[in-house]
Amino acid sequence: MLHERRCADVTTPWVIDPSGVCGSRLQLSGNGAMDVALVENFNRKGAMKKRSGKNQSSSRSNKTTTRRNPSAQSEDESDGGMNNALHELFLEELADIYSAEQQLTKALPKMAKAAESDELREAFEEHLQQTEEQISRLEQVFESLDESMKRKTCKAMQGLIEEGAEIMQEQKGSPAIDAALIAAAQKVEHYEIATYGTLCTWADQMGHQDALDLLKQSIEEEEATDERLTELAESLANQRAEQG
Ligand code: FE
Ligand code: FE
Ligand code: FE
Repeated sequence: MLHERRCADVTTPWVIDPSGVCGSRLQLSGNGAMDVALVENFNRKGAMKKRSGKNQSSSRSNKTTTRRNPSAQSEDESDGGMNNALHELFLEELADIYSAEQQLTKALPKMAKAAESDELREAFEEHLQQTEEQISRLEQVFESLDESMKRKTCKAMQGLIEEGAEIMQEQKGSPAIDAALIAAAQKVEHYEIATYGTLCTWADQMGHQDALDLLKQSIEEEEATDERLTELAESLANQRAEQG
């Protein structure tokens, strides 16, 4: 039963998946890929099962993006091959986070500039560097899969950045500006954590070890940034906003 599954988080020991579902455990049949996409919304921390065995497939014979009839799924597709609906969904999500990261390289310098405290400005500047590394890691993920990157726009990130810009404008000159910036930035980090968590789960399930190693580095950076922002809010920004 799905709700009884125990899932390994990317960075912490075994935990019960709070949503009661694990992307890594879903069976793909019928419109299974759609089920996985829906479950992604609940898959906050990228629940992962422990890997067993080595990379099960390192090359892909058919690179069409057209999904094949699920009922005609062959054995190599169900055991981690690179020609199935989950693999196509994996490529879509990789392209989506690639777009999100690229949008952030333009938004983070504006957030750094708007920050009142030196600590928050430095945090944004350092995360900009990490974001650039994350973009290069995603390119390496595509290389490791011998796939080419699709062009895609992450609409969620567009919305989060738009909302962040709005609140920055509204709070300009206010003692609450840093608290507002942190709130906007943490929404972004949580979106990234959710996406990388899902991608880690899928990479693990399909046996893409190189991709998994790269994606894990990025999710760890996002989680550390989220924690750093919480610390800055609690130690500085929220009090400043309250006293203003
Ligand atoms: Fe990122
Ligand atoms: Fe997106
Ligand atoms: Fe980030």
